[in-house]
Amino acid sequence: MRIVRFSPNSSAGLGTDPLFGVLNDQDQILVLRGDPLFGGIVPTESKVALADVRLLAPVIPRSKVVCVGKNYADHAAEMGSDVPKEPVIFLKPNTSVIGPNDTIQWPRMSERVDFEGELAVVISRICKDVPAEKVDDVIFGYTVANDVTARDLQKVDGQWTRAKGFDTFCPIGPWIETEFIPGSQKIITTLNGEVKQSEPLSSMNFKIPQIIEFISSVMTLLPGDVILTGTPAGIGPMPAGAEVTVLIEGIGSLSNKVSPRAI
Ligand code: MG
Repeated sequence: MRIVRFSPNSSAGLGTDPLFGVLNDQDQILVLRGDPLFGGIVPTESKVALADVRLLAPVIPRSKVVCVGKNYADHAAEMGSDVPKEPVIFLKPNTSVIGPNDTIQWPRMSERVDFEGELAVVISRICKDVPAEKVDDVIFGYTVANDVTARDLQKVDGQWTRAKGFDTFCPIGPWIETEFIPGSQKIITTLNGEVKQSEPLSSMNFKIPQIIEFISSVMTLLPGDVILTGTPAGIGPMPAGAEVTVLIEGIGSLSNKVSPRAI
């Protein structure tokens, strides 16, 4: 099932507040009552065409976006290091989240803003110390993310909060696929149509069960928390005005443009 969050067109008679829905194979959205993360899938009588709405980030993390660094060996190598023995984790603020087709704002402080295409997990319920064999109990679904990074500031700071924490630096979407099972599906990132990253998800070093077991042994996870699972090799800068698209087979594709650098 594809769960979308959207702004209805004013002519649709659905009001102007963001709504959740289920996207079907005919590109129609069956409108839901409330947020499916808090109260389940409750259909209404309303339907709207995908073409008549603006898709939003399919989840607004109430508390946090947790990210895994250096989780593909070839990306760790291009960053000059080995794959770590334990997952390396960091946070992006929930205020960095934007949706499909929203603009990534290039901050004045940075001269180099990079894309990192990543698989994202959406957590369904409050949980702590989740054993690897039970992680399916706490996963709501999967979506696509771009762990946008001010690469120059990452190097200068020695830790990543500023470099990865700017507003707009966490595009996610276009929807949450609740039936996705990560395997050999490819993650493909294109910049202005040119392929920059292309690798099967099976190349991840730490897989989803290990990642959730590890993170939940550190911190309590809440419904709507999002976990970014690392990027493959091929990261690089996004020039002003560029369009970056991250596609994951079996989920969908997420496109965003980059603004000119702020002055
Ligand atoms: Mg990353």
